[in-house]
Amino acid sequence: MPDFADIPARLYCIYIIAGGAAIVYDGEYPPAFESMKSHTVFFDHAFLPEGWRKNVRITVSGDRIAAVETEAAPAVGERVAGIALPGMPNVHCHSFQRAMAGLAERRGPANDSFWTWREIMYRFLDRLTPDDVEAITAFAYMEMLERGFTAVGEFHYLHHAPDGSPYADLGEMAARIVGGARQTGIGLTMLPSFYRYGTFGGAPAHPGQRRYLNSPDRFNALVARTREIAAADPSINVGIAPH
Ligand SMILES: [Zn+2]
Repeated sequence: MPDFADIPARLYCIYIIAGGAAIVYDGEYPPAFESMKSHTVFFDHAFLPEGWRKNVRITVSGDRIAAVETEAAPAVGERVAGIALPGMPNVHCHSFQRAMAGLAERRGPANDSFWTWREIMYRFLDRLTPDDVEAITAFAYMEMLERGFTAVGEFHYLHHAPDGSPYADLGEMAARIVGGARQTGIGLTMLPSFYRYGTFGGAPAHPGQRRYLNSPDRFNALVARTREIAAADPSINVGIAPH
């Protein structure tokens, strides 16, 4: 049996297949999770590092899995219907797109394509404020947690105001993505995306892309600012995503 003491509980999402819901624990508990700080659950089957095991009792204490017992017996109220699986990462997310679901997914003319979908996306994102982005992000991440995704890589390119000018804080939108993650407890890797051209060959950017665009210098400043924003929370990492 491996030593689970150093595994953040967030990395072991307890995924309840039957109900389609998940119980996820993280280092800092959103208020709604306070009552889950110390918790024991029992599963008939769990997928552990050494494989499938039966009659598994998992004790979570604070933000850690404190104990995993196999061939255990459940105490009253501990048994959860379904199976336990490790939490999964969503390695490619643009959270704001969650709120345009349904706008483009319908039968269209024969020339309907990714490019026509993209036109709808541009019209949609033209209206999004920082408050909108934070709310949509929190909602999308909550849904990921409910389905067993416990970490997300956010390919973040919606950086600037609708007219393409930077916000007073260059990292305004990055802070809103981080805010959405912190509301939900999901693990976040921020991946600021660098956009400069419309397509290969140095083509000019599409007008709908003006909120994405940066010079290399401003992109460097944006990455530095994103690192500052993320520094307060050890569960948030920062990378980059050239696009
Ligand atoms: Zn993408």
